[in-house]
Amino acid sequence: EQDVAEYRKSLAIRVSGFDVPRPVKTFDDCGFSPQLMNAIKKQDYEKPTPIQCQALPIVLSGRDIIGIAKTGSGKTAAFVLPMIFHIMDQPELQKEEGPIGVICAPTRELAHQIYLESKKFAKSHGIRVSAVYGGMSKLDQFKELKAGCEIVVATPGRLIDMIKMKALTMQRATYLVLDEADRMFDLGFEPQIRSIVGQIRPDRQTLLFSATMPRKVEKLAREILSDPVRVTVGEVG
Ligand code: ADP
Ligand code: MG
Repeated sequence: EQDVAEYRKSLAIRVSGFDVPRPVKTFDDCGFSPQLMNAIKKQDYEKPTPIQCQALPIVLSGRDIIGIAKTGSGKTAAFVLPMIFHIMDQPELQKEEGPIGVICAPTRELAHQIYLESKKFAKSHGIRVSAVYGGMSKLDQFKELKAGCEIVVATPGRLIDMIKMKALTMQRATYLVLDEADRMFDLGFEPQIRSIVGQIRPDRQTLLFSATMPRKVEKLAREILSDPVRVTVGEVG
């Protein structure tokens, strides 16, 4: 425990919550499938970044998380890799329809980046990823979603449009990620986020990532996460 404490201090890492799993040092410590390990190697990810070392075991254990770290710290893989694990871990879900993993991001550029990152890791398991954001034809998006997917990466407004059009249902969603929550609030997406969260079953796993934690985001986190572990890396938040 002493070494973990020293290590966290040296990287300006703060962790709070009940029964926090120990950080991992390598991707091999995560229990990932050989296919997923291969996909990680292809990315030249030698070892997990500090936020990944802390977040991976927390998320893999099924816990909710609040991850606060600045841009470029590797937050995407911290939620995408356990999402693949989560989907493969629930074969009973394969029978139903609709995405299992739902990721909300503030802008189409960010949603697209997350989409690309998810695809790299999802394809090794035949997991389908769809991107849903403004600027694309609604009809094309409707058709793609109707064809089925296990992961949807979306901006909040367009996702609501698609739900209203019955392009997808949230009945199978059990893994919800709110990425760059502070920016989504800045852009006025709070009502849309609340609406989306309200449509996803309460026994879901919820992950919230943000560069800062303004009071409104803090309030949302208190309302929609259960017993989260909070990980802060660096002098942010
Ligand atoms: P954030 O969401 O925190 O801003 P990203 O997830 O976009 O950060 O990652 C930033 C960059 O670091 C990306 O180019 C990504 O491919 C790369 N990256 C992520 N994890 C690792 C890792 N473990 N080793 C090396 N590079 C990584
Ligand atoms: Mg990011």
